[in-house]
Amino acid sequence: MEKAHDKVWNSCLAIIKDIVEWQHFKTWFEPIKPVALKEKILTIQVPSQFFYEYLEEHYVNLLAKTLKRELGKDARLEYRIMVDSGNEKNKPLTMDISGHGIKTFSNNEMDFPLVINNPVKNPFVIPGLRKMQIDSQLNPIYTFDSFVEGDCNRVARRAGKTVAEKPGATSFNPLVIYGGVGLGKTHLAQAVGNEVKRLHQNKVVLYVSSEKFINQFQDHSRNNAINDFIHFYQLIDVLIIDDVQFFNRAEKSQDALFAIFNHLHQSGKQLILSSDKPPKDLEGVQERLLSRFRWGLSADLQTPDYETRIDILEKKMKNDGLEMPREVVKYIAYNIQSNIRELEGALISLLAQSSLNKREIDLDLAKKVLRNFVKTSSKEITIETIQKMVCEFFDVSYDKLLQKTRKREIVQARQITMYLAKIFTKNSLKTIGEHFGGRDHTTVIHSCQTVKDLMDTDSLFRESVIELQQKVQLAAM
Ligand code: ADP
Ligand code: MG
Repeated sequence: MEKAHDKVWNSCLAIIKDIVEWQHFKTWFEPIKPVALKEKILTIQVPSQFFYEYLEEHYVNLLAKTLKRELGKDARLEYRIMVDSGNEKNKPLTMDISGHGIKTFSNNEMDFPLVINNPVKNPFVIPGLRKMQIDSQLNPIYTFDSFVEGDCNRVARRAGKTVAEKPGATSFNPLVIYGGVGLGKTHLAQAVGNEVKRLHQNKVVLYVSSEKFINQFQDHSRNNAINDFIHFYQLIDVLIIDDVQFFNRAEKSQDALFAIFNHLHQSGKQLILSSDKPPKDLEGVQERLLSRFRWGLSADLQTPDYETRIDILEKKMKNDGLEMPREVVKYIAYNIQSNIRELEGALISLLAQSSLNKREIDLDLAKKVLRNFVKTSSKEITIETIQKMVCEFFDVSYDKLLQKTRKREIVQARQITMYLAKIFTKNSLKTIGEHFGGRDHTTVIHSCQTVKDLMDTDSLFRESVIELQQKVQLAAM
């Protein structure tokens, strides 16, 4: 007997057939399977997301009209999209979308555990959600406008702009942005995302760090839900993955990334990746992934030159409504050369010092602050410095530390000093021994071993050593 949904759908088709060209009818209507009729809602199953989008774009009016003719004015259409046709082990996975674009996932069981109806902040769950409701996880302050252009980033910035205008439709797919720390990879990658959202409101953008991606994958893998994980990512139009160098050693996650990459790329979706080195130098990442990373455009970010550093400082000051003498800006730009994060750090420290001490920002203050700030060129730390610090810490005299005493506290203080000297200085064991009243290198080895052993067994001792380590570390900055 003909089922109700078949009956309704066949009547619709009879009308559509007369209206739509034969070739189009074969392509877009024959593959549709009616699957349910509940009250006035007809659910039709379509082979893919793309198929659904095409119907919605080209035939939505026709579908609505014919359906209303059959079912009355309350008639509604729902789509069921085949996401995965399944096999003996896994049931087919489908996704339902109503006319309003509200999706729920289903693997044809009653309560698919991952279906929720709230907008989700966080893609850890495979949600039933409006496409639009996937939170893109972008920081709105990272825009092109706030990303100062200079020789160091011109190509990457322009490529990013082009991609944002036509996501998925340029040859820059994937767009790989690479460069050292603090040079603007995250900022630029997110700027592309924010710009896509501004220009193409219907596109689903998602930013994710590689670490988060890997963690999510591992969670889903533990729960036997890898398919859900992959399907979720396949919904994204513009996928931004930050710091892909962290995929090294995450072998299984690389497989998932490979599947997602291929699907998105084939469906004309945009991928944007960032990395701390050019794709060819990424170690521990599968060759098949690397070769795909090279399909599009790899653009690097370099350290900004003096002029660009000035521009960046001025931009930040303008954004924050700050003013300071030109000579101070020049002084900072001249002295902080490593990267932009440090540049910002210097500016923030200077502001903090100025408001803390209720003092105008001038060159003097800048010199003072920067002296403390230029931590990157770590100071050479000497054995003597460490000896002094340990003596102070345990309240023993310097002479005692060197003497041949067997008093436990002194012996331990001496051993710790040797241990720290080994870690923090480049001196040989022999030299270290010489600094302790001419002991030989085997004593130093023995001391270091004793400290390590005690740290494993004695928590009080361990705390002291760690505290001291931190002190020395600070002194070395
Ligand atoms: P990375 O991800 O490469 O380590 P980030 O994108 O986090 O670097 O950038 C570090 C800081 O420098 C951020 O606060 C960012 O806004 C800023 N920054 C980087 N490049 C620029 C630029 N061209 N113009 C303005 N600010 C920048
Ligand atoms: Mg970053």
